[in-house]
Amino acid sequence: MKYRVLVLGAGFGGLELTTILSETLGNQADITLIDKNDSFTFGYSKLDVMFGKQLPESVRLPYRSIAKPGVTFRQETITEIDPVAKRVTTNAGVYEADILVIALGADYDLSATPGLIESGHEFYTVEGAFKLREVLANYEGGDVVIGVDSWPYKCPPAPCETALMLHDFLTERGIRDKCTISLVMPLSKPIPPSPPSSEAILEGFRERGISYYPLTCVKQLDFSRGVAVLDDDKELPCNLFLGVPKHCLPDVLKSSSLAENGWIPVSPINLMTKFPGVYSVGDVTSVGIPKAGIFAEAAAKVAAAAIIAEVQGGDPPPPFTGAGTCYIEFGGGRIGKIDVDFLSGETVQSHYHGASTDLLVEKKLFGSSRKSRWFGL
Ligand SMILES: Cc1cc2nc3c(=O)[nH]c(=O)nc-3n(C[C@H](O)[C@H](O)[C@H](O)COP(=O)(O)OP(=O)(O)OC[C@H]3O[C@@H](n4cnc5c(N)ncnc54)[C@H](O)[C@@H]3O)c2cc1C
Repeated sequence: MKYRVLVLGAGFGGLELTTILSETLGNQADITLIDKNDSFTFGYSKLDVMFGKQLPESVRLPYRSIAKPGVTFRQETITEIDPVAKRVTTNAGVYEADILVIALGADYDLSATPGLIESGHEFYTVEGAFKLREVLANYEGGDVVIGVDSWPYKCPPAPCETALMLHDFLTERGIRDKCTISLVMPLSKPIPPSPPSSEAILEGFRERGISYYPLTCVKQLDFSRGVAVLDDDKELPCNLFLGVPKHCLPDVLKSSSLAENGWIPVSPINLMTKFPGVYSVGDVTSVGIPKAGIFAEAAAKVAAAAIIAEVQGGDPPPPFTGAGTCYIEFGGGRIGKIDVDFLSGETVQSHYHGASTDLLVEKKLFGSSRKSRWFGL
């Protein structure tokens, strides 16, 4: 009998997990991967499109390219998940599984920040970031606020990268002196687990005249008065807002028995939920590390190994360490790198590699290796 594995969500976590299962189990399993979209886009590609470095069509990786033994991709919207029966309903049908993996990522609640939908912009959805490409190309100058609206949010360094890249972009357009850039973030430092990288980023802000507001969020936009209002009621002048909207569970999980305190709790040992045979990886979980693609991928490796042990027998995998490598854009074609391990030791371990153009080559390889491994492109 073939094991029926159902993977919900074809993002960083779902793609890596499906790839490992196919490589190891091949036709021993019947793996169905479901996503509502027709393509995947790396998070950092959103910034590249927004700042005119890449074209939208060149960063979309189409799911139709996936051709892996044992894997069927379905473009459908999941409307119901029954973790006890391991039954999933979509807009097109009903699926029964022996093993279920939930990798549906984090969704956004734009309405949680008054004024954001009416007159602000966000760069966390593909649509929002791609729309900003034209907005920024036609911007004539003024007060730009890059603001995070709540915690947790994915890829914590991304707003800092956006501020540094925006400085370069406005400089190249010859309008930097007509603009101010302010960055509002809930964290105490740009990257709390890595003090040297935080210091390098803060130095970058000082050199470029970027104002930094830590430990607070943007709670409201009032464009009739041209201000962004922070949690402590401080007001920043703003005629262009680039926001990181409040993150939340995808709708299909909001009232599910899988959810607790806003996310899906999982075992840090093997990423299993409280329901036997139901795993969850990536941003949708509350496993205790930041939400980022690299950690979704690391979690997928552990969950895949646990599933393979379940199907083939054998020892369970070593526990999830929450380890990975993050690449940070410093602008000017320079990239910094942080190797971090959240869960192996008693405290977070990290090592920072200073920004250089050499690391740009490594970051490109990071993207191209996934593109080839997951999509055969
Ligand atoms: C601007 C920006 C820059 C970033 N840069 C980096 C970076 O440099 N490095 C890094 O590691 N991370 C980065 N990230 C974060 C990274 O993109 C995410 O953390 C990562 O994609 C999470 O992977 P995931 O598999 O958990 O979820 P996702 O990749 O979000 O995948 C979830 C999938 O589920 C699907 N889905 C959701 N609901 C349904 C439904 N009801 N029916 C069907 N399908 C559904 C979605 O369409 C989606 O494809 C960045 C993010 C942003 C926004």
